[in-house]
Amino acid sequence: MKVDTIIHAKWLMTCEENNTVLADHALIIQNKKIIDILPSKPAAEKYNATETHHYSTHVVMPGFINTHTHLAMNYLRGLADDMALMDWLNNYIWPAEKKWVNHDFVYDASLNAMAEMIRCGTTCFNDMYFFLEATADAALKAGIRGGIGITVIGFPTNWANNFDEYVSKGLNFYQQYKDKELLRTTFAPHAIYTAADHELIRVAELAEEYDLKINMHIHETEAEIKHSVEKFHARPIKRLQQMGLISPRLIAVHMAHINEEDSEIIKAGKPSIVHCPQSNMKLASGTCPVHHLKQLGLNVALGTDGAASNNDLDMLAEMQSASFLAKLSTHNPKVQTDLEALTMATLNGAKALGIDDVTGSLTKGKSADFIAINLDEIETSPIYHPESLVVYSASRHQVTDTWVAGKQLMKNRQLLTLDEEAIKAKAKEWSKKIKPS
Ligand SMILES: [Zn+2]
Repeated sequence: MKVDTIIHAKWLMTCEENNTVLADHALIIQNKKIIDILPSKPAAEKYNATETHHYSTHVVMPGFINTHTHLAMNYLRGLADDMALMDWLNNYIWPAEKKWVNHDFVYDASLNAMAEMIRCGTTCFNDMYFFLEATADAALKAGIRGGIGITVIGFPTNWANNFDEYVSKGLNFYQQYKDKELLRTTFAPHAIYTAADHELIRVAELAEEYDLKINMHIHETEAEIKHSVEKFHARPIKRLQQMGLISPRLIAVHMAHINEEDSEIIKAGKPSIVHCPQSNMKLASGTCPVHHLKQLGLNVALGTDGAASNNDLDMLAEMQSASFLAKLSTHNPKVQTDLEALTMATLNGAKALGIDDVTGSLTKGKSADFIAINLDEIETSPIYHPESLVVYSASRHQVTDTWVAGKQLMKNRQLLTLDEEAIKAKAKEWSKKIKPS
């Protein structure tokens, strides 16, 4: 049978619920989709491909899904470090954004972020920022899959002045881009402390009407909860429940502080959770109780947050941090296996975004979104368990190839859709304006 592409892999990781490692297997791709997975030998007899790739020392696995990003913040990376969330936001990040963020900033910085993501094996992101067309156009150029959030924040920014303008610009974006195969629009109210209750209720209604997911930073810090209790006599999760936001439509980002009452509410409401361990550790915000949330039956995905609070978009490192933190915080090294960590960094992100019928694992019928990680390096030798090496030892420079929807975006570390040198030159140009030396 004639097909588009055969990918022969030394090890193939499906990242399905029961994640397995298949040795010497092939991925058969036709019309951007995976149509078969079988051992390499019969694959070569059964299929005749236009293109054949041999990843003979590699793990082939679904691309990472970075379920919480602020991509354009790549240009604020390293501008202000070593402080708590509200000090960092109020005194450094929001003033810098007020001064510099416009369409071109977001487009250029997003391309920088997408190049970084493709280079670390991320095939799908879920973003919250401003100038949505700029991020979307950058994604279309890069060929990467992504969710673009209609940010709603309770003060004027360079993108919009008030709630009505955020929403109308966002919905206008949705109408313009809703047919783009690789893009999804979501609502993204920034946080409970930067939106009025009636605005959040309206977001919940609109999300229902347009059938869109809602991303929101929730219970990121103790200060957020204290402020809510003092002003409204209820914790944010309780108030969000009363506003109708705690539902499977919600992608609750951070959730670093959960008590028993919160647990009951989210157990009933079934939102997805996004764990961002490195950002939470760097800002000393708190620790998301991932194991507890999983025991409540919730879907927990993984995100880096913006590069200004991490300070990278490296999902391999994020997965390693999540694994170590899960063990340390529960005093239980068995709490999460390497195969479970891989599923959290892939399939669970697709579930959060509601696109697990399209991507997130290597299964017949899903889009050919996958990466190859070369284990033939000193840093990942010897090879006893490839899944252990990917989670605990590999670095992002070992990701050699990245594919989205059957299209190769990186080949042997070379970007095929983006110009690395031009992206570095742009970053330099902007940095000279943002922080003249
Ligand atoms: Zn964030």
